[in-house]
Parts: sequence; C-alpha cells; structure tokens
Amino acid sequence: MILVGLTGGIGSGKTTAAKEFENLGVPVYIADVEAKKLMATSESIKEKLIDLFGPNAYTESGLNRPFIADVIFHDKAYLEKMNAVVHPEVAKHFTQWVEKQKAPYVIKEVAILFETGGYKACDFVITVTAPKHLRVERLLKRDDSNPEKIEAIMNNQWQDEERIALSDFVIENVDLATMKENIKKIHFKIIDAIK
Ligand code: ATP
Repeated sequence: MILVGLTGGIGSGKTTAAKEFENLGVPVYIADVEAKKLMATSESIKEKLIDLFGPNAYTESGLNRPFIADVIFHDKAYLEKMNAVVHPEVAKHFTQWVEKQKAPYVIKEVAILFETGGYKACDFVITVTAPKHLRVERLLKRDDSNPEKIEAIMNNQWQDEERIALSDFVIENVDLATMKENIKKIHFKIIDAIK
C-alpha cells in the first residue's frame, strides 16, 4: 500500500486538507484522533499508563486528561514516557487499519511527522502551510487557547522551510477553494505516479 504522510504546523489546516482527500475517496487516518480513541479504549495502554502515572490516570469516565497534563507540565520527561506507551500501540493499530484499505493509496495525518522521523516510512509527504498570523487567528477561534501558548507550540515544532525542503507536495491553505483545487491536482498526480 502506498503511504502518503500529511503534515503541517499547528493550525495550518491538516485536518481540513485530510477531509478534502477523504471526499475524493482516499482513506485517511488521523493519528491524533486515533491515539485519543486508543487511550480511552485500549486495556493495554490503560494498564501501562496506570503503571506510569498511578491510579489517577483514569477516572470512571475515562482518561484523566487534566491530571496527566498537570504531571507533564511539572515534568516534561513524562511526555516522552507517555509517547513511548502510546506511539507503538498507534503504529500497530495503523498497520491493521492499512491492511483493510483497498484504495490505491492512504493518507496518514501526523502533526509531528518530521520531528519523529515518521516521514521516512512514507512514499510521499505533503505539507500544509499557512501564514503564522492566520494560523493563530484560526486557532484562537477554534480553541480555548492564547497566542503565547500557540507560539510556544509553534516554536517546539519544525518550521515551514524545514518541512517544505523534505516534502513532495506543499499545499498552501489561505483560501479554502484554492486549497481544494490544489488537493484535487495533487491527488491525480499521486495516482499517476503510482500507476
Ligand atoms: P492542529 O494542528 O490543531 O491539528 P490542523 O492543522 O489540523 O490543526 P485544522 O483543524 O484543519 O488545522 O484548521 C484549524 C482551524 O482553522 C479549524 O477551525 C478550521 O476549520 C479552520 N480553517 C482551516 N482552513 C481554513 C481556511 N482556508 N479558511 C478559514 N478557516 C480555515
């Protein structure tokens, strides 16, 4: 199966782009969404996270996000430890998902595709870009966040120039209609390339 990685900085419009590929019939796996689902449902993750964070990691209604966020806030090493539990399970789940797909290619949306080295496993990589001020504006509208928090996340991620240098395709997401047109073109380029 041909694997296309879709990435971009926070608020660039990855999920918006991914949905557009989905509308064209491409199976899309949104890694963050699947990771969240697995953290809520996988017994093996639950067991390991309770080993890591203690019994407060889960409440009766599921994963205790505020508690975990607080632990990580006070000791960043816990983020890596949590990722070491969650990422292999997501990778396993993704492999099983891919096996069930019948389209010519699949898309995996991953926010930190370059940072983790995950791009090396992709046949093609697409980066979504948008000017920083638009990304901040959109995120403030979407989330209960603030410019400082968004800036801190942006500074922790790769920058657009670095992502673009290693990408096969770049989608600029300023105007939605133009982005949709470009996605169609890229979709057919990929189909042509893998024929
Ligand atoms: P995150 O990094 O948080 O996962 P993302 O890169 O997946 O975000 P989206 O969630 O797709 O980005 O987009 C961020 C917000 O901006 C959403 O509320 C989305 O509806 C809005 N948005 C995306 N593209 C556009 C656009 N071209 N015009 C206006 N709003 C947009």
